Amino acid sequence: MDRQQEFVLRTLEERDIRFVRLWFTDVLGYLKSVAVAPAELEAAFTEGIGFDGSAIEGFARVHEADMLAQPDPSTFQVLPWRNEPHGTARMYCDILMPDGSPSYADPRHVLKRQLSKASDLGFSFYTHPEIEFYLLRNKPGPGELPEPNDDGGYFDHTPHNSAYDFRRNAIMMLENMGISVEFSHHEGGPGQQEIDLRYADALTTADNIMTFRHVMKEVALEEGVYATFMPKPFTEYPGSGMHTHMSLFEGERNAFYEPGAEYHLSKIGRSFIGGLLAHSAEISAVCSQWVNSYKRLWHNAAASAGAGGEAPAYVCWGHNNRSALVRVPMYKPDKGNSSRIEFRALDSACNPYLAYAVILAAGLKGIEEGYELPPGSEDDVWALTPAERRALGIQPLPQSLDEGIRAMERSELVAETLGAHVFDYFLRNKREEWQEYRRQVTPFELQRYLPIL
Ligand code: GLN
Ligand code: MG
Ligand code: MG
Ligand code: MG
Repeated sequence: MDRQQEFVLRTLEERDIRFVRLWFTDVLGYLKSVAVAPAELEAAFTEGIGFDGSAIEGFARVHEADMLAQPDPSTFQVLPWRNEPHGTARMYCDILMPDGSPSYADPRHVLKRQLSKASDLGFSFYTHPEIEFYLLRNKPGPGELPEPNDDGGYFDHTPHNSAYDFRRNAIMMLENMGISVEFSHHEGGPGQQEIDLRYADALTTADNIMTFRHVMKEVALEEGVYATFMPKPFTEYPGSGMHTHMSLFEGERNAFYEPGAEYHLSKIGRSFIGGLLAHSAEISAVCSQWVNSYKRLWHNAAASAGAGGEAPAYVCWGHNNRSALVRVPMYKPDKGNSSRIEFRALDSACNPYLAYAVILAAGLKGIEEGYELPPGSEDDVWALTPAERRALGIQPLPQSLDEGIRAMERSELVAETLGAHVFDYFLRNKREEWQEYRRQVTPFELQRYLPIL
């Protein structure tokens, strides 16, 4: 046993923890959990704990259902909301095949494999997500409309703002679990919150995002409200994005930083953005994976100002352009190592392991192939006419899950990054979702057509 494993066993004993939850994530990004007694852990570390993978979305074909969950001791945390005696701890797991090889279906493994490709090229990948979500008064029953929990707006701080208490409790809970929060505020929609996690390597960030969603739901329950990461729960209010700031490091050096260059952005940084732009349509179905995601990635200047809520709808980049898909914030030269770029397509309901894997793959492709960065657009691309956008060569992002799926189907880059099993499963599942949606006759149609047709 290594030192981290020993530390886990010792902590369990010292703190008299009787339950250990082993967490992992299915292909669609749902958190899964199996509880084991501390006595089982030594075996779990060495061989893994067996479970039936065929019950988990996207994990196994029926004839190869046996799988093993092997806890990663570096992710050990005591769950602060179970602070009664004989508490509970959790670890994230890697999923293994019965022969001990990594499971091709494990999203965590998909990301690890891409991170190791980056590391072969000399890079490590760091991310910092801005996670948006809504607090609702309660969990809407079937057919009920969601009701925001407050009527605050962007950065609002009112004396009796229940969102303030929520964020305070939620952040304390996160910090107790070793997840540092950099920034938090009320977002643009009523009930909408944003919490930004501190920079970490992409695997840690993805684990942290999974924990984050769970913690937000727990804290909300405790306070009698409901937290939702649905990308666009309201027609009139902005959706919930998960803009992610990212950078590549070569050892101690930020590879995106070049003093004196435009925006201090290095050739590597420019090609990385080039890769994100060139492959943004192909990776869209992974970054924005639900039918509902595409109601967020939309902007109509004629609608109320908040409708699109600064979610990107076109493939372009800019420095101070909040309608762009990629934004390059400008930093002081002495802040060189904090140089980063912000990718804004993701929503808060993506599978963060898969999303970070395809984003990294797209960026690395740009670097390997030396993609040129097209000119930036400092204009508000929403305000341009379609003809003006065409003249500038600015393409729309996929406008529906259907378009996203079609672009992904043709993508060698995504197939290679996800691996054949996850690629096929994901596409099959998403095509079914789209078909199911497509056959629905919606309230919109009934209201619009019945009175006149
Ligand atoms: N809610 C917007 C989105 O979905 C982002 C708003 C903002 O942070 N500027 O992307
Ligand atoms: Mg923000
Ligand atoms: Mg925001
Ligand atoms: Mg942002």
